[in-house]
Amino acid sequence: MHSFPIDFIEYVTNDSHLGESLLDALNTQSPISIRKNPLKLSFSFENEELISWCEHAYYLKERPIFTLDPLFHAGVYYSQEAGSMLLDYVLHKLVLPTAPKVLDLCAAPGGKSTLIASKLNNNGLLVSNEVINQRAKILKENCSKWGYENVVVTNNDPSDFKRLPNFFDLVVVDAPCSGEGMFRKDLQAREEWSTDAVNLCASRQKRIVADVWDSIAENGYLIYSTCTFNSFENEENIKWITTNFDAEIISIDAPYDFVQGRDGIGIYGVPGRSKTEGFFIAVLQKKASDGSNAKLGRNSNKGLTQFKDLSAIANWVETDTTTFYLWNENVLAVPAAFNHEFLLLQDNLHLVKWGVEVGELARKGLIPSHDLLMCPSLRKEIHPFEITREQALKYLHGDTFTIEGLKELGMIQLTYQNEPIGWIKNIGNRFNNLYPKEYRIRMNIHLIHDKN
Ligand code: SAM
Repeated sequence: MHSFPIDFIEYVTNDSHLGESLLDALNTQSPISIRKNPLKLSFSFENEELISWCEHAYYLKERPIFTLDPLFHAGVYYSQEAGSMLLDYVLHKLVLPTAPKVLDLCAAPGGKSTLIASKLNNNGLLVSNEVINQRAKILKENCSKWGYENVVVTNNDPSDFKRLPNFFDLVVVDAPCSGEGMFRKDLQAREEWSTDAVNLCASRQKRIVADVWDSIAENGYLIYSTCTFNSFENEENIKWITTNFDAEIISIDAPYDFVQGRDGIGIYGVPGRSKTEGFFIAVLQKKASDGSNAKLGRNSNKGLTQFKDLSAIANWVETDTTTFYLWNENVLAVPAAFNHEFLLLQDNLHLVKWGVEVGELARKGLIPSHDLLMCPSLRKEIHPFEITREQALKYLHGDTFTIEGLKELGMIQLTYQNEPIGWIKNIGNRFNNLYPKEYRIRMNIHLIHDKN
């Protein structure tokens, strides 16, 4: 049993919306849940239990060591809290264009972005943004492994999106918050909580929404979410948005064991009532725009040139629906339908992942990238070679070792359970491990037994 801040106990106990039972629930075990990637290997965990409000999502009976599962590194599933998967249910309720432009503004490490990418299923465009540089790198890794073509990762401050007025059909603000909903699994969040911190979070959230508001298109949506229970960061902020902008709350009835927010605003996951951590989600629609679409023009190409001689890459990548660019020596693939939007993003934002990076053009031809290998719709199946779990973990750890039966020379896709995990270059008596250094497993893998 762990204690809570006194002020937190007082407010929860006196809040008819929450009540003392929440404190007991926050001292129980957290549920474990994952969401599978519909683009990748279809498989089952032992004793998995379907989650009703999100496609491809399951509770697990026990927490596996995800780091020691090669399929986790291959982007076959994502470990995500079940409450935040309510986003999937909410997305179903919106009337969006068939190929919407979506911004996930506070996106790292990528739980919501991978969910949105699966929902879009390579239609439309997802801009997945994270303001903190180090976290943007993790976001890039997770989006890359999730394997969709239409995801651009940016590292920008919310105010930078003012450069793209009326651009997005949907903006998701999963705001940094006081984290009361995470008190069960994050004991540090309990220590950091104070009423001052709540007030600070509430004003930062207002600033974030104000900064990004102009980038929402007329009739476009804002999905606002937090993982906290207090009204200041949730319902009060939603009311503040409606008084300060031309916005209307879209009411969605709380499904399953979720709970309607105070004054009927938004929906909560409440531990003890729903099998989730704490989560709040609400939807607003922008009523009018200021008509500033016309201002959107191109101003530079920052060294980006279109890449037209496809012979150098045709063996590696599907080329039919894609526009290619050369940036330094890297070939980038962008869905042709969003070529113009991509260039606008390139002009106005700091991109850290441009659609899919196909590879580097070297003197002897293309060196295909990990990004390409992770993308099932773009990569071609070249020299796959199946390895065991033990070999896969050694590979993901960055080791070089002997792989019996490797005959083909040159670039080879290592697969585990037929799912690609990374490239090697076989040079005869040994191979070069091309798994990106920054993605390597850091924990000691040598103590585990090969279960294959
Ligand atoms: N959406 C993510 C997911 O589902 O995996 C979780 C996002 S987390 C709740 C909030 C994110 O907002 C963090 O990645 C944090 O770095 C970022 N953030 C912090 N301060 C910010 C600010 N002032 N403006 C925008 N984002 C901020």
